[in-house]
Amino acid sequence: MIGMRVTQTLIPTLREVPAEADTVSHQLLLRAGMLRKVASGIYTLLPLGYRVVMKIEQIIREEMNRAGGVELLMPIIQPAEIWHETGRWDVYGPEMFRLRDRHGRDFCLGPTHEELITDIIRNEVKSYRQLPLLLYQIQNKYRDEKRPRFGLMRAREFIMKDLYSFDKDEAGLEVSYQKMYEAYCRVFKRCGLDFRVVEADPGAIGGGETHEFMVLADTGESKVVFCTSCDYAANVEKAPCDPQIIPSEENPRPLEMVATPDMRTVKEVADYLGVPSHQLIKTMFYKVDGEYVAVLVRGDRVVNETKVKNFLGATSVEIASEDEVMEAFGVPLGYAGPVGLQEKDKIKVIGDHEVRYLVNAVTGANKEGYHYRNVNTGRDYQVDAWADLRVAGAGDLCPRCKAPFQAKRGIEVGQIFKLGVKYSKALGATVLNENGKEVPIVMGCYGIGVTRTMAAAVEQNHDEDGIIWPPSIAPYEVVVIPVSHRDMLQVRMAEEVYQSLAAAGIDVIYDDRPERPGVKFKDADLIGYPVRIVIGSRAVEDGLVEIKWRASKEILYKSKEELVPYLRSSLERSKNNCI
Ligand code: ATP
Ligand code: MG
Repeated sequence: MIGMRVTQTLIPTLREVPAEADTVSHQLLLRAGMLRKVASGIYTLLPLGYRVVMKIEQIIREEMNRAGGVELLMPIIQPAEIWHETGRWDVYGPEMFRLRDRHGRDFCLGPTHEELITDIIRNEVKSYRQLPLLLYQIQNKYRDEKRPRFGLMRAREFIMKDLYSFDKDEAGLEVSYQKMYEAYCRVFKRCGLDFRVVEADPGAIGGGETHEFMVLADTGESKVVFCTSCDYAANVEKAPCDPQIIPSEENPRPLEMVATPDMRTVKEVADYLGVPSHQLIKTMFYKVDGEYVAVLVRGDRVVNETKVKNFLGATSVEIASEDEVMEAFGVPLGYAGPVGLQEKDKIKVIGDHEVRYLVNAVTGANKEGYHYRNVNTGRDYQVDAWADLRVAGAGDLCPRCKAPFQAKRGIEVGQIFKLGVKYSKALGATVLNENGKEVPIVMGCYGIGVTRTMAAAVEQNHDEDGIIWPPSIAPYEVVVIPVSHRDMLQVRMAEEVYQSLAAAGIDVIYDDRPERPGVKFKDADLIGYPVRIVIGSRAVEDGLVEIKWRASKEILYKSKEELVPYLRSSLERSKNNCI
């Protein structure tokens, strides 16, 4: 029998908002007694929280299996050797948790498992006849994130589902990728989440095409753009942008240095000089694989570090600190500009296309307290290259149909990658194909952040009283509460209702605590059970129990006989609505 009594489990709800919690989902998961912090980015999932995780995992399992996936379990601890073979032992950097055994051998706590699974495949698979293979696990991952935050959202230990596909050729990968794309859509729909699939940048993991699955939420760390006319959607890091040229009738005027005391930001300078911010050139200094590069964008734009990295074919792009820029170029913060910059020292200067079209622009004069007016490309400064280097936003045009973009924030809950032969080549995972020729296996990898999905669900589904779980991933679907724990008739009836629901296979919890009803109602709202059943005097008198839906706040009454069929069908319906 399923079912649980509140007095038998551990649900330590909190009335106060914990000071450590930096986002709504983090606060609510702590307050609802689902989560506790152990160390920065490391958490215990308390019984209620773990039930949500298990439900998400079950949905993922069903959909991975439906798509032909097979589950296995690899170790968390991985030997350094395989990471040396792909070169990632060095590339991964401080994000990797490293350790030594008593014999002095190096290991890491797996941040991901491409190396390990490819090692297995190279040993066990020899012929194309054994392919395709889709292998997955659901397991803890370890990443020593620079800034762990938002609770489960960006943790250092978290649960991930990772699947790896192995095919004999590109056409096979195409099929596997498509299967996973569809399986992921089903997973997030079944979890009751409002999400979008967006094109993304392949980044450090390497390889080709990749999509991210974004749960839409204003608090999301990622920004995405959607076309308002076709179905194109992309992470802003990836979305290409055409220059939006602001027409100017002006002729170039002579270059002029003007005093701008204590004016450092784009807005301050623009206001002070009475020009629009798009008339300014913003000059940003980066360290690109250890070398300085200056990047120019219009004052109203943001540099896209991913585009800079891709354009320069670099592995690392880091913003230079104020001190570094001062020391290397003598340029004070807020007063940088391209005039004379190239001559100053060996520095590459690259500019976003839009900057090229500015007439009589304003830039920093590379001198404390001064800017230049009437700066014109070619005459006053040169660049090494023009490129698309800015972040896309609302109003930019779709690369497919040229309709304007809409911008939204999202939480990346999953990502799928076409890896190609990057790992199989590095590790020598090959098969003999139909012609007896040895070829590298073509791979894909596919991750879902299970614990992040849980947090994203809360971020998207809550109100001022607490969490509103989508029924498919709620810790329990129904809570039963007697109004008075001293009224024996109410308690007996509540007990009966609870027993009958549990016997009927409904996922129910019984709040049998000797507490005031207000406390129980508050907790029920905070925890976010989809259905609340209250047994009060009316239920005892005329046999009608009160049913309240957490999401719609709808209240209705049913007799004991109607209750089970009603709940079964309406819960089933609300879960299937999502597919
Ligand atoms: P991010 O860009 O957010 O750092 P990622 O692109 O490095 O994530 P992947 O390697 O694609 O992450 O991992 C697959 C999934 O694992 C992500 O889509 C995300 O849902 C989850 N995930 C990644 N890092 C974390 C983390 N630090 N805490 C919780 N979940 C995470
Ligand atoms: Mg990712």
